[in-house]
Formats: sequence, C-alpha cells, structure tokens
Amino acid sequence: MATRDAPPPRAWRGVIEEFRAYLPVTPRTPLVTLLEGATPLLRASRLGRHLPGIEVYLKCEGQNPTGSFKDRGMTLAMSKALEEGSRAVLCASTGNTAAAAAAYASRAGLPCFVVVPAGGVAVGKLVQAMAQGARVVPVEGSFDEALRIVRESAPRFRLTLVNSVNPYRIEGQKTGAFEICDALGRAPDVLAIPVGNAGNITAYWRGFVQYHRDGRSAALPKMWGFQAAGAAPLVLGHPVERPETVASAIRIGRPASWDGAVAAARDSGGGFEAVTDEELLAARRLLAVEEGVFVEPSSAAPVAGLLKRAREGRLPGGIVAACVLTGHGLKDPESVLRTERRPEAVPATPEALERVVDEVLAVR
Ligand SMILES: *Cc1c(COP(=O)(O)O)cnc(C)c1O
Repeated sequence: MATRDAPPPRAWRGVIEEFRAYLPVTPRTPLVTLLEGATPLLRASRLGRHLPGIEVYLKCEGQNPTGSFKDRGMTLAMSKALEEGSRAVLCASTGNTAAAAAAYASRAGLPCFVVVPAGGVAVGKLVQAMAQGARVVPVEGSFDEALRIVRESAPRFRLTLVNSVNPYRIEGQKTGAFEICDALGRAPDVLAIPVGNAGNITAYWRGFVQYHRDGRSAALPKMWGFQAAGAAPLVLGHPVERPETVASAIRIGRPASWDGAVAAARDSGGGFEAVTDEELLAARRLLAVEEGVFVEPSSAAPVAGLLKRAREGRLPGGIVAACVLTGHGLKDPESVLRTERRPEAVPATPEALERVVDEVLAVR
C-alpha cells in the first residue's frame, strides 16, 4: 500500500514525501497525493512600489492542484483516513475545502460528503466539488452552522471529518511555512495571511516554530492575520453572529482554531487587523494588474492589510514580508464583475479596434 500513488522518480513528490520527517506518517501510511506544494514564491517588485522600503514576496497557493492551500492538509488527512480504514469522508466548507476533499477522496477511492452554506459558495468551488463526484449538501444556514452539524454528525455516522479540526489538516498545511523558509534561505520578518477558520495561521506558525527549533531558520516571523471587516471575530475578540463579506472563503464568525490563532499572534509578536471589502477588491485588482497574479478576494487580504499599514505609516522599513495568497482567482469569477465591466462588442473592423486601442493608450 505504501507505494500507492508513488510519484515519478525525479519529480517533486508532494508535501508528505518532501517533508516526511516532520509529519505523522509511517512507511505503512498509504500515500494519497496530487503532488501538491512547491508553489511559487514570487518577488513582487511592482506591487512593492506601493509598499516602500520593504521586500514583498507572494506565496502563490492558488497553484496547488485544486487551486488552494487546502490541498496541503487534504493529502495528509486523506492518507490517514485511508490508513485508519475510513468508509467515507465529510466536511463543511466555504468551498475550497470541499473542492480539495472531493479531489483527494476521488484519488483515495472514498465517498465524499460536503455540507455548504446555501448560496454562500463561489461558483468555481461548487462546480469543482460537483465535477469530482462529491455529494454536495447545501444547508439553509451559515458556514458556522454547517461546521457545527458535521462535527456532531461525523462520529454518529462513522464518517471521517476532514475539516481543519482534523489535526492532520493543520500538520499538512504547515509545509507552506517550510517552503517559504527553504526558498528564502531564512524566515520572513512578517508572514501576512488571511484568517477565516484560523487553521492556516495556526499551521504556518507551527511550521515556522519547528523549522526554527531544528536550526533550519535563524529567526521567527511576526504573524499578521487579516480578516474581512464584516467577519472579524479575532479582531473584535468575540464571535460574529452574521459574518458578511465579499470574500466567501473567510466569511466565518466562529473560527474553530481560535486558540491556535491567538497563540500564533501573541507568541510571534504579531496581531490581527481588519480590511474592508473595498480594500480587498482593490488589492485583488492590484495583484492581477500589477503582478499578473489572479487571486480570489480572501487571498488579497494580506496585501490589502500591508497597503493599509503603509498608508497609515505603520509598516516598519527594511523588512521581508511574505503574503500567503491562499486561492486562485478562477474560483470566484463573479467577484471580478464587482470591479470590472463586461466588455461590449464592437464592429468586426480594424477601425473599431483602433478606437479601443487609442482610448486605452491615451489614458496610460
Ligand atoms: C480556507 C481559506 C482561507 C481561510 O483559511 P483558514 O485556515 O480557514 O483561516 C482563506 N482563503 C482561502 C482561499 C481559503 O480557501
């Protein structure tokens, strides 16, 4: 079983094989992988002009197999589910967990059930789960309610829960921190990351601490978590009953990993801040237009946060900052139409095209 899904000999082997020494697997653990990880860490010099005096890197997690960082945790959660003889997996999701669970469950040959807030999932994510054979169950409620239901149901129906309350999810996701340190040859001074259910900030902090303890990085980053203003329980210090934001991946009022997130911010000397939907959409646009990196709205939170701090004179100079861009822009095409106009058809003539070209080049 251990050679299941074994990668070709000279390729990147996926996060379990690459970071095996740091993960709770044995030679007997069946490997369920889509060769996730090894995502680009891009230097953002054009974006950096809006962030004077600092060096900015973008960890492009949208380039994982299903288009978000969730794959890092799902490879481990699904491998362990198979090892433990699971008969099916279950999760609640704002979309990306569902997409990842569906794909990795297919790979594992396990049935997959995903419970989503009705109307609360971006279309790209919903179709991924549907296309990959998961049974999608929309519920008339929020993500927080969906999570409550699956936490209660998983043991009752003998299903394996693959939300980030499954400890293997966090273990897998910490590999993002390893990759950033490996690419930079050091830890960044600041790790800027969107925070929804708060599993990922918990995971990254664990990864940085473990690498530091092993002497693989000399220092630890400050962890700066960014939430949407309408869904900012960790900024406010209490749960939010009706979270609202354009960034559906972080539309969460009761983060499951609350304690882990608070510890990461406190122990690193970091903290939490909120950014408005307008700031999120502006940062999303800037990333796409200035750097060619197209992300979903939630992923723009760390960039929106750094821009806000720069505007307000609260960005320390001379630092290296890494922003975790959690999910791909194609996940949520509808959000683009909030800032961009659909192009209108013109006559099929060079003259009509020329008018457009002139108009665009005149304003540059
Ligand atoms: C899941 C997700 C988040 C939030 O991560 P948490 O671990 O829930 O804090 C942010 N952005 C995207 C794209 C996600 O899929």
